[in-house]
Amino acid sequence: MTIVLTARDLTRHYQVSRGLFKGYATLRALNGVSFELEAGKTLAVVGESGCGKSTLARALTLIEQPTSGSLKIAGQEVTGASKAERQQLRRDVQMVFQSPYASLNPRQKIGDQLAEPLLINTPLSRAERREKVQLMMQQVGLRPEHYQRYPHMFSGGQRQRIALARAMMLQPKVLVADEPTSALDVSIQAQVLNLFMDLQAEFNTAYVFISHNLAVVRHVADQVLVMYLGQPVEMGPKELIYSRPLHPYTQALLSATPSIHPDPSKPKIQLHGELPNPLHPPTGCAFHQRCRHATPLCSQQTPLLRLLEARQVACHHAEQINA
Ligand code: SF4
Repeated sequence: MTIVLTARDLTRHYQVSRGLFKGYATLRALNGVSFELEAGKTLAVVGESGCGKSTLARALTLIEQPTSGSLKIAGQEVTGASKAERQQLRRDVQMVFQSPYASLNPRQKIGDQLAEPLLINTPLSRAERREKVQLMMQQVGLRPEHYQRYPHMFSGGQRQRIALARAMMLQPKVLVADEPTSALDVSIQAQVLNLFMDLQAEFNTAYVFISHNLAVVRHVADQVLVMYLGQPVEMGPKELIYSRPLHPYTQALLSATPSIHPDPSKPKIQLHGELPNPLHPPTGCAFHQRCRHATPLCSQQTPLLRLLEARQVACHHAEQINA
């Protein structure tokens, strides 16, 4: 078992201006996220928009520095690394974004865009780079003549294939994919997801797969991390989370996921209200204003993540709710 990504108590806070002469408030976008990820495995991060998923993605891909905590890529600590070390680490963690068009240069041919990471990071000759690019294009289902084409000449699905090919050119240890299929037609999503899985099997890359779509996550994940208002609320193996979610928020998210074979014995759980303002988070459990099991204790004490039924869950009353 090779651990390629380790996060320990990762936080990301922003100082946000309250207005003229009113000072600053602290926005806790990410709070206390810890996990380990093995080579060749996928951690899916789920939650409503605003739950901290994309902040986590930016921290993992070194786009932003965490405020505190530790992040190790292939055993090497990122926080406190020198500029040269960070440059090296950036090769090992690549990212695929939701909009493939935004991540591609509209004025550059696809072949040149795919060759660019090799040009910057390797001593390969022009001919060798071209050969590698053509091999990767073949692996993601593109034809050799696509080498000379520009991004606008491709469909959305093809562009996401190109973005994925570009991210995989340096064979990173970790790939962070932020909602990579949500901008695509449903008919194309499955093909692109299968391509993700094929490339993972080929290169043994670890994936952090960020999505609000639990049906998609079920297809790709090994481990699932459920986030609420910047905090992890439940984390564990996919089979356990999907078959018996313990946290009321996970239960509500899964209940809202369309199913081909809905279970009539399980009534739908309606999630009322909006995600609270992260500048003024609720006291105690951040979910208590929307939780149908909340008690006075929930608004007074923050539940900590603890081990229960082979996964971690942050809820005071998880045993009673799931008895
Ligand atoms: Fe609901 Fe209380 Fe558990 Fe939070 S701690 S999820 S409010 S029961």
